[in-house]
Amino acid sequence: MAPSPTDPSDPTWALALSKCSLCGQEFERSTELKKHMVTDHGASRPYMCVHCCNRYVTQNQLRDHVAAVHEKKRPFRCLIG
Ligand SMILES: [Zn+2]
Ligand SMILES: [Zn+2]
Repeated sequence: MAPSPTDPSDPTWALALSKCSLCGQEFERSTELKKHMVTDHGASRPYMCVHCCNRYVTQNQLRDHVAAVHEKKRPFRCLIG
């Protein structure tokens, strides 16, 4: 069985032109594409706040942010009122 020519783990694949699957932009190096994915598409922070577009690594971080900044909730909320 021959490996897939576009297998990302294949080092020869990194020498080919890397194309962003999200916006179609092309990069000479896969590292450039990787950087583009992180900076332009937030690949390392997949959870985006719908209110202010801040990005977070985990869903918990996003939830805490929304609760604290946009819903003005406190972790220990008084039940009265
Ligand atoms: Zn892109
Ligand atoms: Zn926000």
